[in-house]
Amino acid sequence: MENRKIPYKIYLNEDEMPKNWYNVRADMKVKPAPLVNPGTLQPMTAADLSPVFCDELIAQELDNDTREVPIPEEILGFYKMYRPSPLVRAYCLEEKLQTPAHIYYKFEGNNTSGSHKLNSAIAQAYYAKKQGLRGVTTETGAGQWGTALSMACAYLGLDCKVYMVKVSYEQKPFRREVMRTYGASVTPSPSMETNVGRKILAEHPGTTGSLGCAISEAVEVATSNPGYRYVLGSVLNQVLLHQSVIGLETKIALDKYGIVPDIIIGCAGGGSNLGGLISPFMGEKLRGERDYRIIAVEPASCPSFTRGKFAYDFCDTGMICPLAKMYTLGAGFIPSPNHAGGLRFHGMSPVLSQLYHDGLMEAVSAEQTAVFEAAEFFARTEGILPAPESSHAIKVAIDEAKKCAETGEAKNIVFGLTGTGYFDLVAYEQFNNGTMTDHIPTDEELAVGLNALPPQPTF
Ligand SMILES: *Cc1c(COP(=O)(O)O)cnc(C)c1O
Repeated sequence: MENRKIPYKIYLNEDEMPKNWYNVRADMKVKPAPLVNPGTLQPMTAADLSPVFCDELIAQELDNDTREVPIPEEILGFYKMYRPSPLVRAYCLEEKLQTPAHIYYKFEGNNTSGSHKLNSAIAQAYYAKKQGLRGVTTETGAGQWGTALSMACAYLGLDCKVYMVKVSYEQKPFRREVMRTYGASVTPSPSMETNVGRKILAEHPGTTGSLGCAISEAVEVATSNPGYRYVLGSVLNQVLLHQSVIGLETKIALDKYGIVPDIIIGCAGGGSNLGGLISPFMGEKLRGERDYRIIAVEPASCPSFTRGKFAYDFCDTGMICPLAKMYTLGAGFIPSPNHAGGLRFHGMSPVLSQLYHDGLMEAVSAEQTAVFEAAEFFARTEGILPAPESSHAIKVAIDEAKKCAETGEAKNIVFGLTGTGYFDLVAYEQFNNGTMTDHIPTDEELAVGLNALPPQPTF
């Protein structure tokens, strides 16, 4: 192995691809806290969840014990259209940084939706179809999740209703048209189609919407139309399970060449790509087989891990969804309009929150302009135009590689490159024009959301 040259891109053959998802919860000594009913403050049962989610996805959500979950044949078939995703050795970046570190990135942007979200979209659409449902509803902010879900629904012949935050609907017409091309109906939120939308519009005429409001509309439509369920693209345990395909492929590719990572880095919005990337490595760590440094990178403008509280909170601003125990800034927190749309959620995956709380991973925050400097450097060096979300991981990978240049250590650094930035050119335009700003909330600003957490369960 030693003298075998590592290729620029490590691909897997079809027969090397993972056949099971890996459920990291099975190896956690302290399990993530259960979802809780906001009315009774008791754990949500499968029956409580069934009006909202598909049955098989509820089972996955509640299953803390099954380690390996077989990936259904139909999903494996869909994965083959765009997977395996390449694990790239960033030779050009290493050269440019003059670092002895070996840098690898797992590139999830090689599909039309442009991100890793398709890995869970196809799974969620598949289980809805298998249950005999007519369609699914969801919200989308920046548009990546809505696009991925539209693609999955088109493939399976499922109806797809997307509630898109109005400001994005207007500012990102191209995303909207991709979704419509794949057959989804896209409604700007708040809309006049739902009770909650009408109520919000009456109270706040002219509002440009929020993710929380779009979630509330999508949930209302799912629960009031027979044959529909609601699906969510991040945060939930089931989404991390599906995204484990990222980490499993990464590990198989590294093992082929005997490479052991020292540091694994990912951006964190709701935690799904990072959770998926690290799952098999975290499993080894939890079982005491190996140790890795694992770093979550979040925007300084929406710092759930680094400045949030570990507590039960609502997942939506409409406060109709179950409570989840997670690092949160409060469901009432409204992040400043930064450009990493996919990282603007106030909370964090309960699985990652527990792992972070137990000291099994680290978290850092990065400011927007520094992130775009890293994005530009990466685009000019490795050729790929990265998504602003992904560029948070790039920034910290570069920082760690620079430290290696100082110490002379040849560490193996692996990071998740979650997507491409073709739909984020307004952000790049601001960066290029020098008009991009950094907003870091003050303690007083954060206190508003943090002091308004719901009553905490006592079990
Ligand atoms: C949605 C998104 C993210 C953040 O979501 P996670 O659930 O934290 O992974 C990161 N990168 C891209 C490109 C996205 O679309």
